[in-house]
Amino acid sequence: MDLPPIAEFVELVKATDEDADHRLPLVEQAAPVLYAAATISEDQRQSLAEKFERWRYQRLNKYGPQLSANDRRLIAVLDLAASKILQGHPRPPKAPRAAIHSGACSESQLDQGSRSSEFAGFEAVLDPHVPVEEIAREAALVTLRHFRSPPSDATQRTARDDELAPRELPRRWRMRLYAPLYLSNYCVNHCLYCAFRFPNELDRVHLSVDEVIVEAEILRNRGHQHLLVVAGDFPKLTSTDYLVTTIRELVAREFSVAVEVAPQGTVSYAKMVRAGACGVTLYQETYQEELYRRFHPRGPKVWFDWRLEAPERAAEAGMKRLGLGILLGLADPARDIRCLIRHGQYLLDRFPEVKLAFSLPRIHEAPDGFKSGVAVDDETFIRLYCALRFSFPTADLVLSTREPPSLRDQLARICITQMSAGSCTAPGGYTGTENDSHTREQFPIFDHRTTSQVADALERSGFYLSWGVHDD
Ligand code: SF4
Repeated sequence: MDLPPIAEFVELVKATDEDADHRLPLVEQAAPVLYAAATISEDQRQSLAEKFERWRYQRLNKYGPQLSANDRRLIAVLDLAASKILQGHPRPPKAPRAAIHSGACSESQLDQGSRSSEFAGFEAVLDPHVPVEEIAREAALVTLRHFRSPPSDATQRTARDDELAPRELPRRWRMRLYAPLYLSNYCVNHCLYCAFRFPNELDRVHLSVDEVIVEAEILRNRGHQHLLVVAGDFPKLTSTDYLVTTIRELVAREFSVAVEVAPQGTVSYAKMVRAGACGVTLYQETYQEELYRRFHPRGPKVWFDWRLEAPERAAEAGMKRLGLGILLGLADPARDIRCLIRHGQYLLDRFPEVKLAFSLPRIHEAPDGFKSGVAVDDETFIRLYCALRFSFPTADLVLSTREPPSLRDQLARICITQMSAGSCTAPGGYTGTENDSHTREQFPIFDHRTTSQVADALERSGFYLSWGVHDD
């Protein structure tokens, strides 16, 4: 794809950008790299690409959805320039906003998965007149069809697999178990629903890399090999260097590591990939921009597009697994689930080799003053997960310990393929006492079973357990 001359936009930048004095020298600096294939060092390349990327998001954030036609062209050119500087070639401009809002993915695509089931379409899955039991049965068949194989490596099998003859077990599928490992509860954001929000009185803790390793080894003793590293957004503490070192140390100890941290730039994601991270989890919370801004009033998280495009930046950086989701309790779930599905399909169209995962965290408790937009009952919750299963038959559907054991067990038998177990949502929570942890946790958990109790219950129900991400 050809890159239009960036110099065409100089007058627009002079007229509309108060930082034009900083921007225009960048254009001069980049021109030889962009148009004359001049060579620069890898550090210079990364630094220049980051500046173009940041410039683009600053402009997007300032003008939001009200971009003029000229602005949209400039945004696209900045995007192409950043990718060409970094990778040596531009690719089609990012367009998830168009994909989720303007029907770039049509309703028939939403029905893609449903076509393989007995349901006429996506609408039926969310229609309260269609019995949820029928939908759940169909979702279980789709899940079984795509996840039935036991782990190929016999060493993944546990003693219980051998104790119980397969015919005695109901036929289920592969269930991956993981644990969240919280690094830090410092956060500069003001998300109204989160205990880590900046103004909240909280016992704040930031773990050193050595302390993270201690927590990880405790989790290993409980059986965990796959860790989801979680941290609040506090750039001075949870810097790229700190995250990369943490990932590298964990991977060196043979953990598989995915990250759930603030959105990163493409260069930072690439460093995490090189350190051995296998995936990124990042929920948009809600795709309804007005509500998004209401629930995220201050801090860098107000940047809707920076967050929306983060999974794409991660994929471009080489991340193999992307976890998407919405936070139930903020907005109309039927509307948000459509956007989530369109977002997932947009990403698969651009990165067919990437493995997608989806989760639907649901707010049960929140700091004082938070008013839920829409409460989501259990039946709707199940229907939403089924909608994801029909739309993405091969994607991992992930369920956390925010939900109680009975509902987790029920959903596991319908469509879930990945669950957390024995979780704690506080940094240092696996070494500390339970009472200690409550004073610094992000949200309370409702499944208090230990890892082995969850694993045992799943095996008794006929699931094949997987403890890492390398045995798909
Ligand atoms: S949801 Fe994330 S970004 Fe928002 S306050 Fe909590 S930890 Fe910070």
